Amino acid sequence: MNINYMREHASLLPLVLANNKKHLVDVVGTNYYFSCQFHNEKTPSLRIKNVSNTGYCFGCGAKINPFTYLQEYENLKFRKVLQLLAQIYLFDVKYENPKLDSLVSKYQQVIMSEEYLFLLEEGLERFNKLSHSNQEIEQVNTVYEYQLSTIERIRNHMYDPGFVYE
Ligand SMILES: [Zn+2]
Repeated sequence: MNINYMREHASLLPLVLANNKKHLVDVVGTNYYFSCQFHNEKTPSLRIKNVSNTGYCFGCGAKINPFTYLQEYENLKFRKVLQLLAQIYLFDVKYENPKLDSLVSKYQQVIMSEEYLFLLEEGLERFNKLSHSNQEIEQVNTVYEYQLSTIERIRNHMYDPGFVYE
């Protein structure tokens, strides 16, 4: 399993959105703020950094990536999380586990939703309103282009050609 590829390409944002639809609070550049799912709170403290694919809660200190998020939120062992992410993001057919089908469909529905597409477009638009270095622009565009192409790929049920089995 190519774990590094998954860490970069299995987007955290739609996973958190799937479990927190009513509580997205704000889009600041390419960062997205939610109420934290790991402690009780009224003000939103969980920041998802879309470009680095990580999250941090200013309230409870939780640090998340796609693996740790699903491990904790869905209470799954690491091996199952790899299978789940491979299935959600169609990385490799070898890892399919039918027991995870309902979770796969929950997350894929959000990836294919209007709401998620809107958030991606909104983030890119807000980022483009300010000036940035060429390097930053390239990095952000690469991330968003990949995410937009992933939506199409999942709609068409096509496996990720960039994923190489190690
Ligand atoms: Zn928290």
